[in-house]
Amino acid sequence: MKNALVTGGSRGIGRAVSIALASEGYNVIINYVSNEKAAQETAEAVVAAGGTAELLRFDVGDAAAVAEALSAWRGKHPDEYIEVLVNNAGIRRDNLMVWQSPDEWSAVLKTNLDSFFFVTKEVLQPMLLKKFGRIVNMASLSGLKGLPGQVNYSAAKGGLIAATKALAQEVARKGVTVNAVAPGFIKTDMVDGLDEAALKKDIPMNRFGAPEEVASLVVFLASRAASYITGETISVNGGLYT
Ligand code: NAP
Repeated sequence: MKNALVTGGSRGIGRAVSIALASEGYNVIINYVSNEKAAQETAEAVVAAGGTAELLRFDVGDAAAVAEALSAWRGKHPDEYIEVLVNNAGIRRDNLMVWQSPDEWSAVLKTNLDSFFFVTKEVLQPMLLKKFGRIVNMASLSGLKGLPGQVNYSAAKGGLIAATKALAQEVARKGVTVNAVAPGFIKTDMVDGLDEAALKKDIPMNRFGAPEEVASLVVFLASRAASYITGETISVNGGLYT
């Protein structure tokens, strides 16, 4: 069975991506950091969608933890490799720059950008050896446009977009594609507390998106049908920023 690793697969967009990959027949490795119950629920939904599921708990921003978890996975699956990696786990710690603390800055950079380096390093070599791989990075509108109150998050997501372009060129000849998806406002726990009624007035589609509307693009980018698309960042934002 083909293996796909979805970081932050327990909730929100990552859960929808896990379920969508399951319906393509993947064994989905669902990473999470703390919410075991949500991860279990995603695993059940993955099985219901026709896939198989494994839970893999680690903090994507902790290099040693990432290496340990993925080395244990390889130990358990010596003849397999992860052919699809969705770098999705992310957090936001919004604050205006004048009040932003060093902790808010580093937590966001660590979880949203360092994680790309730590996790991708662990799965890249087998993809190159097998001459097939798909890496999809969850960026954001914030990384394209920059959003006030999100200097940290915009920097992390902007960095992720640039890293996507650079890595895509390094690995293109080996059948590995690297793309980014840039959601606008998507209804998940992450946007809890935002004033949806006010914000949606600026969105041409006049609504927030659903996680499934992001997941369908991720599954396409992960498919063989997307074999000539690499280094791209594709927005899913209801027309908010084009
Ligand atoms: P969410 O509902 O808050 O879910 C976050 C997921 O990331 C959870 O599965 C969480 O695991 C996991 N996670 C957080 N920190 C982690 C860590 N250190 N190590 C491993 N897993 C970690 O967020 P979401 O809205 O689905 O966002 C998913 C991605 O889309 C993020 O990268 C986010 O920046 C991006 N995005 C979201 C929106 C939006 O409007 N929602 C817009 C643009 C971009 P636990 O369940 O264990 O906590």
